[in-house]
Amino acid sequence: MNTLTKTQVGLSKRVVSISESETLAINARSNELKAQGMDVVSLAAGEPDFDTPEHIKAAAKKAIDEGFTKYTPSGGTVELKKAICEKLKRDQHLEYGPENIIVSCGAKHSLFNAILTLCDKDDEVVIPVPYWVTYPELVRLANATPVFLKTREENGFKINPVDLKKVVSRKTKIIIINSPSNPTGAAYSGDELREISKIAFSDGIYVISDEIYEKVLYDGLTHESIASFQKDQTLIVNGVSKSYAMTGWRIGYLAGPAPFVAAMNRLQSHSTSNPTSISQKAALAALKGSDECVTKMVQAFEERRNYIVDRLNSIPKVHVRKPEGAFYVFPNISKYGVGSNKLSQRLLEEAHVAVIPGAPFGTDDHIRLSYATSMENIKKGMDRIEEFFRKL
Ligand code: PMP
Ligand code: GLU
Repeated sequence: MNTLTKTQVGLSKRVVSISESETLAINARSNELKAQGMDVVSLAAGEPDFDTPEHIKAAAKKAIDEGFTKYTPSGGTVELKKAICEKLKRDQHLEYGPENIIVSCGAKHSLFNAILTLCDKDDEVVIPVPYWVTYPELVRLANATPVFLKTREENGFKINPVDLKKVVSRKTKIIIINSPSNPTGAAYSGDELREISKIAFSDGIYVISDEIYEKVLYDGLTHESIASFQKDQTLIVNGVSKSYAMTGWRIGYLAGPAPFVAAMNRLQSHSTSNPTSISQKAALAALKGSDECVTKMVQAFEERRNYIVDRLNSIPKVHVRKPEGAFYVFPNISKYGVGSNKLSQRLLEEAHVAVIPGAPFGTDDHIRLSYATSMENIKKGMDRIEEFFRKL
C-alpha cells in the first residue's frame, strides 16, 4: 500500500490545492456500484441520456473512412470555425470571424485554457455562488484567487448588480457568468444581463460567459448572451456536449477578441494540439444540421423537469425552485439539519440513489439532482427519495 503523504510524493502545490471533480467522481462511484450488482438509481450524471443523433455519427464515420485522421490546425479547422461563426450569427446575432474562434477538447478545456491565458498570481476571478464545481479549481490552477459572490435563492440564484459592485476591484480579471446555470438551472433575461453588464465591463475585466446549456431552456424562453452588450470584453464558451448529446466527443469552443484567441492558441499548440479531427467533423455536422433533434431532447427534459419539481416540492420541508434551463434541480434540504455531504452519502447507502451534494457547488443547504435520465429512473429515484425523507 502506498503510505506516502502528498508532500512526500512530491506533488506540486498547484495540484495539492485542488480536489477531484466531485460530479465526475460520484458518477464513477455510482457506475462502480451498479457494476457490482447494486440497483442504484443515478440522478448524478450531468450528461444527456440520449444517444448522439445519427446524422452526427454518420459524419464521424465518413471522416474515418475518408482518412480525415491527421493533425488539424491546433485551434480547429477553418470550416468548423466558420460554422461556429454562422451559429453565433444565427442564434445570438453576433458577428465573429474565424480569427475570433478557437476549438478545444470540450468546454471545460476552453475554460481551462482561457483562465490560464488571462490570469497571473494576485488576479481575482469573481465566481457567483452556487457555481459549477470546476470554476474555482481552474482559477487555483492558474495561481489566481477565486472571489465568491453569493446569490440568493429568493432572487432565483441570480447575481444582484449591487452585490457585484462590492466585489469588483482593481484586482478583478474575470467575472464568470453561467446561464443557464449548472447547478441551479437559473437563466438570465436580456434585461438582467444588461444591468450586470453596466458593472461587469469595467476597464481590463473580461466576462467569461459559459453558455454550454444555451439550448436547454424551457417555457419558450430564448437564450441571451452578455456578449451582446460588450463583445470586446466577453469570452463566450460553448460546445456540443449538452445540446447534441455529445459529451464523449470532447468538442468545445470559445469566441472572443482576436488577440486573446491568438494567445490562447499558443497555449493550446503546446499542450493538446488540435481537438480530435473526427470529432471536429461530427461537431460540424451538429452545427450545420437541423436542430430538430435538440428540440425533441429539450421537450423530454421539460416533461421530466415538471415531474421532478412537483415530486420534490411535495416532500415536507424540501423546497425547490423551478429551473428555467439546464437539466438539474437544486432542492433546499437545510430544514432537515443534515449537511449535504452526509445526506448524499446516506441517500446512496440507504436509498441507493446517487445525487451530488451542494457543498462542492458552494452551498451545504442543497443537493443537485440531474434529470437527464429516463422518466422511469426519475420515478423510481423519487419514490426512494420520498421514502428516505419520510423516515429521516
Ligand atoms: N460548463 C458547465 C457549466 C458544465 O456543466 C459543463 C459540463 N461538463 C461544462 C462547462 C463542460 O462541458 P464539456 O467539457 O463536456 O464541453
Ligand atoms: N458538467 C457535468 C456535471 O456537472 C459533467 C461532469 C463534469 O464535467 O463536471 O455533472
